[in-house]
Amino acid sequence: MTATSATILAIDAGTTGIHALAFDEQLCPVAEAYEEFPQHFPFPGGVEHDASEILAAVDRVVEQVIAAVGTPATIGITNQRETVFPIDVETGAALSRGIVWQDRRTAGRCEELREAGHEELVRQRTGLVLDPYFSATKMEWMLREDVAVQAAARKRSLRFVTVDALIVSHLTGGARVATDPTNASRTMLFDIERRDYCDEMLDLFGLDRSMLAEVESSAGDFGYAQIHGVEVPIRGVLGDQQAALFGQGCWDAGAAKVTYGTGCFLLLNTGQRRAHSSAGLLTTLCADGTGAPCFALEGSAFAGGSVVQWLRDGLGVIKEASESSSVATSVDDTGGVFLVPAFAGLGAPHWDPGARAAILGMTRGTTSAHIVRAGLDAIAFQCADLVNALRSDSELPLERLLVDGGAAANDFLMQRQADLAGALIERSSELQTTARGAAAIAGIGAGRFTDLTEAEGLRRGQEIFTASLDAEQRGSEMRAWSAAVGRVLSRP
Ligand code: ADP
Repeated sequence: MTATSATILAIDAGTTGIHALAFDEQLCPVAEAYEEFPQHFPFPGGVEHDASEILAAVDRVVEQVIAAVGTPATIGITNQRETVFPIDVETGAALSRGIVWQDRRTAGRCEELREAGHEELVRQRTGLVLDPYFSATKMEWMLREDVAVQAAARKRSLRFVTVDALIVSHLTGGARVATDPTNASRTMLFDIERRDYCDEMLDLFGLDRSMLAEVESSAGDFGYAQIHGVEVPIRGVLGDQQAALFGQGCWDAGAAKVTYGTGCFLLLNTGQRRAHSSAGLLTTLCADGTGAPCFALEGSAFAGGSVVQWLRDGLGVIKEASESSSVATSVDDTGGVFLVPAFAGLGAPHWDPGARAAILGMTRGTTSAHIVRAGLDAIAFQCADLVNALRSDSELPLERLLVDGGAAANDFLMQRQADLAGALIERSSELQTTARGAAAIAGIGAGRFTDLTEAEGLRRGQEIFTASLDAEQRGSEMRAWSAAVGRVLSRP
């Protein structure tokens, strides 16, 4: 049997759910399915995912899309990064739940490594900072704490896999356990200049190269998925933020985007030049227009759309995420309230895993609408901090920002972003740029495109938000925000 459709299937395995989208030859979406999967919070600061729940959701959404458009010609995968699972390659089964990027359990270990003076070597080799966000200390923790993981290590059948490699292994029936450089660059075990795992990092974390997925190029050959008796080639893998960058057409040095998903992520393609940050950003790998690795500067704020989820599920002050915009505009301002969303510590530019969230500045007149507005403001303030850090590191003015992701649908938030970042915001009419990036990279891997700029789906309609605050008003708002952040930091 052969493929029954010419579509490219993109599997976008996010933090809260799995999207499957089929794209036509012009990279326009033609079918879509989505399913959330459970989040597990075993203790305060702990966040886990169950591999079988993720893979069952993958199977169901893929099945729905295939039912609509037929078996695809090619598959591309994009995924939440850093989250890591221990699997036994003999059985293909996960040995325990995976530890999610937001999990803070290794904060103490990171502090210990910092005090022992390892931070500079980590930064030089991997471009990252010593924070529990990345995979290495999570792997080290599992190997130390979990007897099943230790037993598999003794049998040499243990692999620590990020979500991309978990899905590749699942779809290929265990024939391939492979990841790509953009995902590998988030493990804290990958030398981003040599483009290979780093022995010094493996030694530091007590890990062995044999425990890791093989690294295939982003537009490489990841084997064949078995779908209804058809072998469908998997020809592209990118971490979600790099896929969004790719799907926004940011293939060349100087192009930047912000994605508003569960977290918020600002990435700037710096081409073949490795930029060093002195403002708390990361250096990481992304893909150029041919799918080859190049460098990026990245600013990551852990709480983005998850602030809105918390307002809905934790505080219960809105019923739907989309309601946040009308509730926020039902009041003129926040009434002096700041919400600092350090639910999982703070990422760039502070890197403080010990910080915890707070609502500050409340008076007897504060209402839930003020808090909702402060929550949306917090997303915009954090991203403005990232933009300012990137301006200082790159010496680029960044007057124009491409944006995407679920929370970018919020008009109030986008206007505040334009105001607080002092930039023109261009919102893609198609917010699923992550999946489109995965489809585009797979299209390149399969030899379907020689020039991506020809693809109609990448020529977006844009909505524009322009800044309405002057520099003085912006400066005064940003200073007030910084003072609020200063009150939740665990270290000065
Ligand atoms: P991920 O890929 O990280 O799972 P998505 O890009 O799918 O995230 O975006 C989902 C996030 O966007 C959720 O955290 C949700 O709360 C938020 N969100 C969705 N719609 C809105 C909206 N209209 N306003 C604000 N936030 C929203």
